[in-house]
Amino acid sequence: VPAISLEKVSKTYRSGQVTTTAVESIDLEIRQGEFFSLLGPSGCGKTTTMRMIAGFEEPTSGVVRLSGKDVTGVPPNRRDVNMVFQSYALFPHMTVAENVAFGLKRKKVPAAEIRTRVAEMLELVELGDRAKYKPRQLSGGQQQRVALARALVNRPSALLLDEPLGALDLKLRQAMQLELKRIQREVGITFVYVTHDQSEALTMSDRIAVMNKGRIEQLGTPAQIYETPATRFVAGFIGTSNILTGTAQRVSDTLVRIDYGGDQHVLANTPQQMSDSGLVITVRPEKIRLGKDVPDANVSRIRGTVREVVYLGATTHYTVRTVDDTDIVVFQQNSSDASNLADHGDTVWLSWRPEHSY
Ligand code: ADP
Ligand code: MG
Repeated sequence: VPAISLEKVSKTYRSGQVTTTAVESIDLEIRQGEFFSLLGPSGCGKTTTMRMIAGFEEPTSGVVRLSGKDVTGVPPNRRDVNMVFQSYALFPHMTVAENVAFGLKRKKVPAAEIRTRVAEMLELVELGDRAKYKPRQLSGGQQQRVALARALVNRPSALLLDEPLGALDLKLRQAMQLELKRIQREVGITFVYVTHDQSEALTMSDRIAVMNKGRIEQLGTPAQIYETPATRFVAGFIGTSNILTGTAQRVSDTLVRIDYGGDQHVLANTPQQMSDSGLVITVRPEKIRLGKDVPDANVSRIRGTVREVVYLGATTHYTVRTVDDTDIVVFQQNSSDASNLADHGDTVWLSWRPEHSY
């Protein structure tokens, strides 16, 4: 049984004459114990989806199930999930330990058990030595960990986190990403994580649902989403992509070609987005080879002029302008023998295999 499932869930907000469809017919199954992320730009419906799982909103239509049970009409405090918000919402007058103990006290858990569980949780989030501090005496990252401990101490079967690291600076955020992942692995409960930050989702998730305008565009592992984006939106939103367009000809059952003249062409295995305006092809910068020699005809090959060279230590990023004025970005790994492949102003060939066009 999935930990959480959404069946054709929609949410429309009405205020006066204005209606906003925040979520449109989402189908989703989140497995027991997985780290699942909802990823998408601001306003795409992530928070609304979370609030419907937590019970702060009811769907306009569709069904939310927790461990297989329809929870329509069940209030948030009677659902076996807990939510952590970006604003940590700690009680300022209570100590760290009292903040974490709060929910257990309300549930009349015996005092000895509360002490044990709070101590365990503070160990888990590495704040064992801060039990007697007040929230204001802690850093942002530490306050976030207290909020996490407070949510986990109730032993919910799922934890919902809505952009919980948004208020932290980059370095701390990256450290906390790994920390959250470690904690999730240790406690083994289902995490549903909302973020608009693609690298955050790729770093932490077992699976990701990429959302756009209230819908799920693609659901898969980080590698699936990065390597084989299902739509142009996903390709553009995750990582860096080069986009090429043109009129395509079918070469065989499995291969199409866009000709650019002068021995230049792009080959693609499975054209997903054939339309009247032609074929749209995306290719990742790290899949492209850059060189001075003419590549074989059985790979995509395009000539261009180097416009920009950015040396970044492990990699070099080249921007190459093609004859039809398209800029293509190429990431090359640097090794001792292959560094400095080309300089500004050089004419180069770019090539990549058909399976890397999509
Ligand atoms: P995200 O979390 O991805 O940024 P939200 O779920 O917060 O997106 O919002 C999705 C859409 O629904 C947005 O257009 C937002 O303006 C709208 N929306 C969210 N909450 C409400 C509300 N309570 N009333 C009216 N519109 C809302
Ligand atoms: Mg939001």
